[in-house]
Amino acid sequence: MTETVIATHGLQKRYGAVHAVDGIDLDVRAGDVYGFLGANGSGKTTTVRMLLGLVLPTKGEVRVLGQRMPKASREVLPRVGALIEGPAAYGHLSGTANLRLLDAAGPGGSRRSRKQRVGEVLEQVGLSGVGRRPVRAYSLGMRQRLGLAGALLRRPDLLILDEPTNGLDPQGIHEIRTLLLDLNSTGTTVFLSSHLLAEIEQLATRVGVLDRGRVVVQDDLATLTAPTGATVVETPDPQRVRTVLGDRVLSADGGTAVVRGADPAEVNAALVAAGVPVTGLRLQRPSLEEVVLAAAGTSADRVEAHR
Ligand code: ATP
Repeated sequence: MTETVIATHGLQKRYGAVHAVDGIDLDVRAGDVYGFLGANGSGKTTTVRMLLGLVLPTKGEVRVLGQRMPKASREVLPRVGALIEGPAAYGHLSGTANLRLLDAAGPGGSRRSRKQRVGEVLEQVGLSGVGRRPVRAYSLGMRQRLGLAGALLRRPDLLILDEPTNGLDPQGIHEIRTLLLDLNSTGTTVFLSSHLLAEIEQLATRVGVLDRGRVVVQDDLATLTAPTGATVVETPDPQRVRTVLGDRVLSADGGTAVVRGADPAEVNAALVAAGVPVTGLRLQRPSLEEVVLAAAGTSADRVEAHR
């Protein structure tokens, strides 16, 4: 069985009358890129803070890397790299100096190997050219990358990142995505929150959708977007598909017809035999947006489908 890396049970946080997190059961497994998707204000940051032991739950249980949080923080946190809500750094010091300070707070290693590690993580996040510049001269995107470099210093087993691409330009987003996928391929479990559907769809292997403090969807992305059992036919004449296939046609409009049946070759053969021009065929799959819409109803328009 796959090892559970993050597990919460009935996790709740209330601020007065506000149910910021309202009884959630997260299940993140070793090797996942877990995308935690939710609109602004849905409770993502509060959840992330509880995972890291920075906020105490009102109710419920948190286990990270198999141990209770916040009780086991001292053993767990050194194995977790975290980036939450804009990284903190000393503006008058260089990126390198900031990382050395962070590293100095960590456990051991020779001066030389630590220096080398700082160089490596700066390189990994694409900041090696500017490591000597003071952080106050960094753009928001550069600060975000420096925060990520700090999270990587100790070669964590688990990365917990709250909106890691906030403030990055498309090139920066692409670089961070590639970096996270690289890290994941070498065994790091990644938990990242985002309000951007497209980002989660491109990165995640497993998805949890938070809607007003509740988890409304949690499953593997491949399962959520599995074929529906219907075939999409692209054709200049969708009405003729209806004439030929009758009530197997679930919809016909624009340049497509959706036909019941998950064997595109069979659908194609039937249409071509009847002389219907077919320009494309594919299995129908719901997009993550459709899955979220079905599960969260009105709130799906609050998570952004595109940047
Ligand atoms: P964003 O992406 O905007 O940060 P989020 O999904 O991370 O949103 P949270 O920051 O966790 O959401 O906030 C969830 C709810 O809890 C919001 O209604 C917020 O106003 C409220 N909240 C969060 N922190 C506090 C606090 N310290 N005191 C009172 N209310 C809070």
